[in-house]
Amino acid sequence: MLSGQIPILVLKEGSTRETGKDAQRNNIEAAKAIADTVKSALGPKGMDKMLVDSLGDITISNDGATIMKQMDVDHPTAKMIIEIAKGQDQEVGDGTTTAVVIAGELLKQAELLLDQNVHPTVIANGYKLASNKTSEILSSISEKKVNDEVLKNIAMTAMTGKNVGGVTEFLAKMAMKAVKSIVEERDGRKIVDVDNILIQKKFGGGITDSELIEGVVIDKEKVHPRMPNEVKNSKIALIDSGLEIKKTEIDAKVQITDPTKIQAFLDQEEETLKAMVEKVKKSGANVLMSQKGIDDLAQHFLAKEGIYAVRRVKKSDMEKIAKATGAKIVTNLDDLTSKDLGNAEKTEERKIGDDRLTFITGCKYPKAVSILIRGGTQHTIDEVERALHDALKVVGVAIEDQSFVTGGGAIEAELAYQLKKYAPTVGGREQLAIETFANALEIVPRTLAENAGMDPIDSLLKLRSEHQTGNKNAGIDAMEGVVADLFKKNVVEPVRVKSHAIESATEVATMILRIDDVISSKKSKSEGPPGGGMPPGGGMGGMEGMGGMPPM
Ligand code: ADP
Ligand code: MG
Repeated sequence: MLSGQIPILVLKEGSTRETGKDAQRNNIEAAKAIADTVKSALGPKGMDKMLVDSLGDITISNDGATIMKQMDVDHPTAKMIIEIAKGQDQEVGDGTTTAVVIAGELLKQAELLLDQNVHPTVIANGYKLASNKTSEILSSISEKKVNDEVLKNIAMTAMTGKNVGGVTEFLAKMAMKAVKSIVEERDGRKIVDVDNILIQKKFGGGITDSELIEGVVIDKEKVHPRMPNEVKNSKIALIDSGLEIKKTEIDAKVQITDPTKIQAFLDQEEETLKAMVEKVKKSGANVLMSQKGIDDLAQHFLAKEGIYAVRRVKKSDMEKIAKATGAKIVTNLDDLTSKDLGNAEKTEERKIGDDRLTFITGCKYPKAVSILIRGGTQHTIDEVERALHDALKVVGVAIEDQSFVTGGGAIEAELAYQLKKYAPTVGGREQLAIETFANALEIVPRTLAENAGMDPIDSLLKLRSEHQTGNKNAGIDAMEGVVADLFKKNVVEPVRVKSHAIESATEVATMILRIDDVISSKKSKSEGPPGGGMPPGGGMGGMEGMGGMPPM
């Protein structure tokens, strides 16, 4: 600038720019930092993380997805890494830590190649080839006989290491049963949507008091004590409005001058409510679920008619009931006919802990089940919910795909072994990248060993020699602290957990490797200290124009 040239300003003042090696190395560092943070949580002997959010609420978990959802990071590549955890969680429900750890290792190992002046595009190409080969190997070596025993083991593997110790088998069986009852067939394919499983949590009791209910459970009691406790052969009306006198938008005053008219006015209200109940009765309903309120007087009339009624039911619960019973949600009571009613064998109120809940069972469409989670503390209940989420998803995925592999690092070790055999057939510099990719996959058994207090180097060497001699199920037995056949120990996982983790890790790693220029827009004045440091609380400052992701 001092040489007399007029500088051409392309970027807005205050924007920052990193180019070439700096940009690349910084991106890699950020990704590695995230991977390092979650690494210690991997596997059954993984440690927990205590997460404190900006409001001071505490979550204790070693569930990768949960940890990463709570991490508030600022660096754009760190955000990309966290995104893959989110995607993995949505698609497969498990393997989030694995995906992130592999992504971190792919980048870390790529650095070694960059140091040897291997061009990033060559590395990216080699990684892509290796990832494609991985899918091929996975489909050829995966087991295809998915029976109940396998499903239970898959659920148990997904839950090991969660703080639900001792009752994993109980929960695994429940998860399996729940998922099996909602499997649908479409075009000859099995489809599982675990969102059809309604999860209710109720404080109190022990985890083993949790139960699977073939039907819908809603956290609501009947509105009036004189209503029946149970209604067999339920005819259920779903109303998304209320049974009350509508209040006018503006405060209206009614002036009554003649005292005798007061009674007439009240009578009028009573008549309106009575007419509403009459309409419910006329439809043939003996159970009423209202999304809004039910007036005291209306409650009284409903009780008199022997109708079981519940008010202020959540919209999502209304939809579940509709789906399970075949009921149609009606807005205007005048429109309610017998055709809109849902059917269930029984609607009843049951006392759970200190609360009363409504159970709708024996539904017309049995593809609606609920799991009622019980537990001594809110933290326990939440962790059981997270463990169940993983278990339900993996069981569903295994049913859909009908294929599984051995976990505990066995599959990663086998993939590494086979990829190393494949690499020389490709040759050139890509060969180096494929070998590097294979080494990176070994981060899974290495970390499992490390977290189990085993010597990571010795374990890995032992593992490699097992795989060379054809024992493809050799893995890290984290419980016993030895290298063993983990198929025999029932450590199994759906193929999709692995294929998805490896694919998305490869995708993000190659994407990051290809970046040689990071241009950050100016941070807005209200956020962050001058000089472009991290905004307090890791806000979104500076992410404009970078496709800033919303906080998760
Ligand atoms: P993720 O978020 O990736 O699912 P986890 O903490 O759940 O991370 O750990 C998953 C890893 O732990 C998988 O590689 C799985 O095979 C392995 N694993 C699960 N149970 C065992 C076990 N009993 N012994 C060894 N490894 C296990
Ligand atoms: Mg897991």
